Amino acid sequence: MRYPPPMHVFGLLLLSTAGKFDIRVTEEMIRHSRIRDILYFAGFAYGIGVLLLVLASGISSRLRDTASRVTKKPFIVAAIFTALFVVATFVLELPLSFYSGYVVPHQFNLSNQDLPQWLGEQLKGLAISIVLSAVAGGLVMLAIQRIQRWWLAIWLGSIPITIFMVVVTPIFIDPVFNDFQPLKDQVLAKRLLDMAGRAGIEGSRVYQVDKSRQTKTMNAYVTGIGPTKRIVMWDTLLAKMSHDEVVAVMGHEMGHYVLHHLWKGIAFGLAIGFVMLFLAHRFYELGIARWGARWRVDSPRDPAALPWLLVLLSLSTFLLSPAINSFSRWEERQADTFGLQLTGLNEPMATAFIKLAENSKANPYPHPFIEFWRYSHPSIGKRVKEVLREGASETAR
Ligand SMILES: [Zn+2]
Repeated sequence: MRYPPPMHVFGLLLLSTAGKFDIRVTEEMIRHSRIRDILYFAGFAYGIGVLLLVLASGISSRLRDTASRVTKKPFIVAAIFTALFVVATFVLELPLSFYSGYVVPHQFNLSNQDLPQWLGEQLKGLAISIVLSAVAGGLVMLAIQRIQRWWLAIWLGSIPITIFMVVVTPIFIDPVFNDFQPLKDQVLAKRLLDMAGRAGIEGSRVYQVDKSRQTKTMNAYVTGIGPTKRIVMWDTLLAKMSHDEVVAVMGHEMGHYVLHHLWKGIAFGLAIGFVMLFLAHRFYELGIARWGARWRVDSPRDPAALPWLLVLLSLSTFLLSPAINSFSRWEERQADTFGLQLTGLNEPMATAFIKLAENSKANPYPHPFIEFWRYSHPSIGKRVKEVLREGASETAR
């Protein structure tokens, strides 16, 4: 008898590595993910409900009357209407946003915010949204009122505006909520600088952000375009992961950076936006013809019809979310592969993924339909498996 039998050795090897890469799926993870999934679908329905309520209750027409009393200039009327409308929907959506943004994270001990902090942040967000939406609402109504193919004009106009927003968000909007600084850990910074050099990225573009002010969860991301393009690491991630794990995560983010995923995302988003606007414009006019009188909305050129346009856009976004998320998951897989080729840190990547799942209390093995419909990243279970598989083939070669 041969001893030890080869199969046995293989089994022992499997056993010895099994513990390290096993994801402990807790009852808490399952419950938290289930609540998040329900909130995703319920939140969509609730949002549509709020918009229809604003139309059917006459809130929309009354806000338009108020705006029309201030001025007769169509652009300003639409801008004031939109600002008031944003406040109204903020109030109507507050119960759900409070539950999903404050109650649930506290219930699962994922938040570092008290109520005044949370509310303060919501109000800051509201202020930014009022200003940006007022301008957007004014421009959209101007197009609908003046241009026959308004949906095409809105789409063309959205191209420079989208690019402009991606450029300025990291320097004008993100700092309203958090403090961004160059990476503080010098040992880590040196390793990353070296890796960034190999990937063709200027190392000065790696920042850390004090997300621990808001949350106990961890993350990292790539943002900005051109002069504002950067990689941002949450301080929570830097605090809870080993250097090897941070470097592995950074390899993934560098993948997004080098592979121009932001540009590809914008191009994909614009293509989706084209389809959405084309579909929306047909139902927009049909809906106003049919229900306009009941809503006291005079015509498609009335600013009070804007909530109806939003119903159609949010419905089509929802229906297209499997396509949008499939695209995103494809980019994520590409970034995973790029990162591993750059760093060779397959095992630290796997343990980093496991920490991410445990830390955010997310089910690593969601139902395939849920993953298909609403996951922007492949599930953690799949990513760990993939990373270890790529690692294994790497060693075999
Ligand atoms: Zn990613």
